[in-house]
Amino acid sequence: MMINYINKTSNRNRYNPTFKSGLTKDMLYQIPDNNVYINKYFKKNNINVDFKNNNAIAYCCFQSLEYIKLLNKKLGSNFGLPNQIIVEDFNKLKGNLNDSWGICNLLPTKLYKNSDKIVPERTVMFNSNLMCYKDKSLLEYMNDVAEFQKQENIESSSHFLIKFMHEFAHSIHEENLQRKYSSLKVVKIIKDFLNPDNIRNFQSQFSNGISQKICKYAAVNPFETVACDLSKKILNPSEEKFDVYMKENIFQKIFKEKDKHNENKIDTLIKNTWNGKMF
Ligand SMILES: [Zn+2]
Repeated sequence: MMINYINKTSNRNRYNPTFKSGLTKDMLYQIPDNNVYINKYFKKNNINVDFKNNNAIAYCCFQSLEYIKLLNKKLGSNFGLPNQIIVEDFNKLKGNLNDSWGICNLLPTKLYKNSDKIVPERTVMFNSNLMCYKDKSLLEYMNDVAEFQKQENIESSSHFLIKFMHEFAHSIHEENLQRKYSSLKVVKIIKDFLNPDNIRNFQSQFSNGISQKICKYAAVNPFETVACDLSKKILNPSEEKFDVYMKENIFQKIFKEKDKHNENKIDTLIKNTWNGKMF
């Protein structure tokens, strides 16, 4: 079972960062020349990696994971990191994923064409055919794509790391479910949430509201709603609230009782999906 990210790129070849979306001039020159240092970082964090020598993608993943770890420290959230990160030619994968920037594999799956190799859950893959640049051109390009897609309301954030954080957010969501439930139950939750009847029901109730509040892609299914919302928030934590992703304490409960009639329908959907409860 996969969550894919089908978005068209911007056709404009400007690669002219405005430096308004998280990318800094310093970052363009921070990408390491060799991958020894960066591989050590992932090893220390228990993540298997195969970046196919694209140090710019490795650098973007490193930056994204640092955002997650910093937030955990500040918020006391317990957002997990993925098991594995692989840069891959998506033509080698089953299921017509050529338009996807990345995927997060949710269940152990035979993902490769003509191969019985099982890819474990919480493996994040990035598409080398779309993320086709190296060095600082990749960062400039991802910045350009994010700004364009945010403008078109396809994407939830214009931050240049959004495509990376989106997949990591799927992985965070799944780890939250794995901590709460047995693996059999997690499989059932994922299948129930993503079955076509459920998605139809979800879209008829929430599609417009979610497109307006988050972005168009967030309205594809409830797991995308969580990934688009959580990734946007992690990349801009000072302007966001994380209540729906945190364990409720007694004060929040009292507050919610008082405020019940004002409870936001979309926030409730996100909270239930985050916790594996059907809306
Ligand atoms: Zn997604």
